[in-house]
Amino acid sequence: MKKFYIALIFFIILITGKLHAQHEIMFSDNYPPYNYLNNEGKLVGFNVDILNAIKDIYKEDVFINSGEWYTINRALNNNEIDAIGGIHYPGSLDPNFIYTRPAINTSHCFLYNSNFHNKFSLEYVRTTKEPLIAMWKNDVLIRYVQSINPSAKFLFVTNYTDFINALDREDVTCIFGQRICAMYYAKSSYKDYVKPLNHRILERSMGFKVSKENPELAAILNNGLEVILANGEYQKIFDNSLAEYDEINNNWRIYLKYITLIGGLSLVILIFLIIVNRVLQNRVRTKTKDLREQLALNSQIMEELEEQKNKAEESDKIKTAFLANMSHEIRTPMNGILGFADLLKNTDYSSEKHSKFISIIQQSGHRMLDTINNIIEVSKLESGLEKPIIKAVPIKEIIRELRNFFHPEATLKGLSFVFKEKDSTLNQPFYTDEYKLNSILTNLIKNALKFTKKGSIEVSYSLHNGYAEFWIKDTGIGISKDKQASIFEQFVQADYSHTSGFEGSGLGLSISKGYVHLLKGHIKLESEPAKGSTFYVRIPNSIDNQQLLDKTTPTETPDLSILEKYNILIAEDDEISFVYLENILENIAEQIVRAKDGREVVELAKQSKSIDLIFMDIKMPHLNGFEATREIRKFNKEVFIIAQSAFTQENYKHKAKEAGCNAFISKPINQQKLLTLISKVTTEKVYF
Ligand code: ADP
Repeated sequence: MKKFYIALIFFIILITGKLHAQHEIMFSDNYPPYNYLNNEGKLVGFNVDILNAIKDIYKEDVFINSGEWYTINRALNNNEIDAIGGIHYPGSLDPNFIYTRPAINTSHCFLYNSNFHNKFSLEYVRTTKEPLIAMWKNDVLIRYVQSINPSAKFLFVTNYTDFINALDREDVTCIFGQRICAMYYAKSSYKDYVKPLNHRILERSMGFKVSKENPELAAILNNGLEVILANGEYQKIFDNSLAEYDEINNNWRIYLKYITLIGGLSLVILIFLIIVNRVLQNRVRTKTKDLREQLALNSQIMEELEEQKNKAEESDKIKTAFLANMSHEIRTPMNGILGFADLLKNTDYSSEKHSKFISIIQQSGHRMLDTINNIIEVSKLESGLEKPIIKAVPIKEIIRELRNFFHPEATLKGLSFVFKEKDSTLNQPFYTDEYKLNSILTNLIKNALKFTKKGSIEVSYSLHNGYAEFWIKDTGIGISKDKQASIFEQFVQADYSHTSGFEGSGLGLSISKGYVHLLKGHIKLESEPAKGSTFYVRIPNSIDNQQLLDKTTPTETPDLSILEKYNILIAEDDEISFVYLENILENIAEQIVRAKDGREVVELAKQSKSIDLIFMDIKMPHLNGFEATREIRKFNKEVFIIAQSAFTQENYKHKAKEAGCNAFISKPINQQKLLTLISKVTTEKVYF
């Protein structure tokens, strides 16, 4: 019973399958590689693949079957099936059937054995006498071959195996038949020496022959062929099933691997070259960058060298000018001093002339001292030894003194000399270094007077709790733009040629600028040649700068009447300095003893306990002034020792104090100053 049901289900499936199949198409089962049964008995081949592809597109129910040529033709003639595929179209019109567009064109050609023939050609077939040609017995084919070579002899075959095997016979010149089928059989029997001529002869279309009753199937097949041609499916099927038997494609296939290999190799080489190129490019880029940097560096170095060379040349010029200038600045006053001193010594002049000469000598001395002081000041500023001494400064008083001091000179030159106070708000003490502020303003006013021939000099100031401002404006020769920065440098003058007209060492402005900076202020210049200059100075109130405050007691006028007669020891190796001191101390001296070096002064101090006052030169042979003082202090703490030196640095003062001196006076010594100092020392013991 169970077996019966299973058989019934199979039967139903078979029946419904048959019923649903709308079309049935048959192929010959022995026409390789177009359509044939393979080893497993399955219908395969180019035409079958083409039909399956069309079926896939239209989802048509098509039943595919196969059989012998005779059987399938009869089935179509009897309308048992709808079409047959893989059929060559007849040479003339056949009104009983519909022929679709061709699925492929077939052709015939000559094939030869490449073991027997190196070079085989159609020309060879044409010219060989009585060539033996194997082929099917077919009138059309025979006529064609005879049209090529009328002497041709034929070996007729009835199947493809005999056809291909005929080429192994040495007496067979060549075979003539369907090109792709022949090549299929040659390949299947591994006869790779079988080669076709490229000549294509008797080209014929192969496609589907459809029953007249079924025009819609013909339309489906025609459209389907068009679609698979367009979408590339046809080419895929051709490549899969026929290409290897097509000589031209075959050649292409043989060379494909070489082409692929060469292509691959070229690609690898190309990639390698691209990488090498990239690496080289990178290296070149890095190198170029390095070179560019090197070049930039070189040109920077060159620029710096050029600048240094220019500076060196400039400084050489400045040095030469400076030396000439200095020589002038020293020789001129020296000339005054020595010349007039000589006159005084040799000739008897009236007392009027006498005092005029003395005043010239004094003026010249001051001028030289100014120059020397300036040089010392610059070197102190340079070495950083100069420190501000901050205390409350009566600015207005300083300005009044400056006006009184310079007024006569300005009037003498015919200049209008104006002082103006602008919106001052100062209502508390102003702290700064009095000496330095005075020097700055003196310098600027002195320059204004020096470089102005006509017009005016105007000094304005504005005082505030936080800062003080000063403008020194003149209508003088002015300074060109390119010189405005450099004139603040040491020894620089705007125009060396005018130095003959204007005396000066080129140090004043550099000292002023140094002082302004020490006071934490700033200095600025605005000037136009031939119109005049304005120097602007701004100084802050250093009220918070407590550590710099000068703790010394304010100076009072000393009482010189208290001076007694003293026993004085002068330690001085220089004759002139000794004679000068001896003279200015004459009036207050009981007796004056001289020591010419350090050792002698210590000896004399030991011997004569009555000595009240020692003038100690610092720079002396054997023992210097500091060492000698230290020795004396070991046995005499009472004697007053006043150090005197041409060196004015602060640290000399400090050292003198440390060694045990009571005071310090710098050379050249002024009589009034010295007597004042002695009065202070004898009353206050220590005065620095
Ligand atoms: P000097 O001793 O030569 O005056 P300074 O340092 O004071 O030295 O000045 C430097 C140079 O600046 C002067 O030689 C001069 O060329 C220029 N100079 C300074 N002040 C003035 C001014 N008020 N008018 C024109 N030129 C000035």
